[in-house]
Amino acid sequence: VADYKNGEWTDLRIVPYGPLQLNPSNAALHYGQSIFEGLKAYKNEAGEALIFRADANWKRMNESAVRMCMPEIPEEVFMEGLSQLIDLDRDWIPTAKGSSLYIRPYMFATDDYIGVKPSDTYKFIIFTCPVGNYYSKPVSVKVETKYTRATEGGTGSAKTAGNYAASLYPALQAQKAGYDQLLWTDGKTHQFIEESGTMNVMFKINGKIITAPVHSDTILKGITRDSVLKLAKDWGEEVEERFLSVSELKSAFENGTIEEAFGTGTAATIAHIRLIHIEGKDYELPEKPSDAFSHRVLAELDGIKYGTKEDPHGWVMK
Ligand code: PMP
Repeated sequence: VADYKNGEWTDLRIVPYGPLQLNPSNAALHYGQSIFEGLKAYKNEAGEALIFRADANWKRMNESAVRMCMPEIPEEVFMEGLSQLIDLDRDWIPTAKGSSLYIRPYMFATDDYIGVKPSDTYKFIIFTCPVGNYYSKPVSVKVETKYTRATEGGTGSAKTAGNYAASLYPALQAQKAGYDQLLWTDGKTHQFIEESGTMNVMFKINGKIITAPVHSDTILKGITRDSVLKLAKDWGEEVEERFLSVSELKSAFENGTIEEAFGTGTAATIAHIRLIHIEGKDYELPEKPSDAFSHRVLAELDGIKYGTKEDPHGWVMK
């Protein structure tokens, strides 16, 4: 825990997990100044904790902070908090395949003030929780063309609570209709695939890996996405960072050129997609060979995270 007041972060400390005391007029509860991150620690065979790409999470948290009018977290506060906590929590890192210690850094406004303005005070907290596989089997997704997750100029690329709040209702409707997740389309035309609920998405069509670019305001800059693209480039795969239209996706099913579809995210790592619902119709993905890109990239990422494979990009921190 650390507190921000009078323009600086102070009182970095570790406290037992327990309730927070907030006043009814807490600004975050009313106006949504709340941002977070998600990352994971793994245990290697020597029993050491390996944290995956913490520096990338720290940078993204600060990008979210800027967009939400919140103070940036100094690198030493983020990293020192993280490493002290993981030192304490080492015994809680599970070792079963697919398991890890999920780490949730977050920050919220702590002013007691009724009135729409940025808060002057904030709290930064990191807590952890052992987790297993997010999805135990391939997922079904529905292309969403009615509701919008994010629009140009909005907060879609920030990891902020309101984005998730706005997505709950459409995601629940999709779940009631029998789908695990949504595939969001752009807020203006609903013609182009953006991302999924908690994952970026990639398609392999005609031998090329296609994924939406993340330079807009509308898509979260996924760290898993970035890792997968770096590995794809290392392996000489053809990658296209461009928007895939819903009609192109439909044609890829109709003419049999779609090979793979998968989500990428910290919680889900690589989530294989088995079915996509597009405009009233379910389209099933073909069976994947064991050497499919998504299988290889998942094995490689797991190897790096659990310390059984080389880490040429320097992604894990001990
Ligand atoms: N998009 C959204 C909306 C997410 O919540 C997440 C999970 N953080 C992702 C994409 C994937 O990002 P990352 O790979 O950094 O976990």
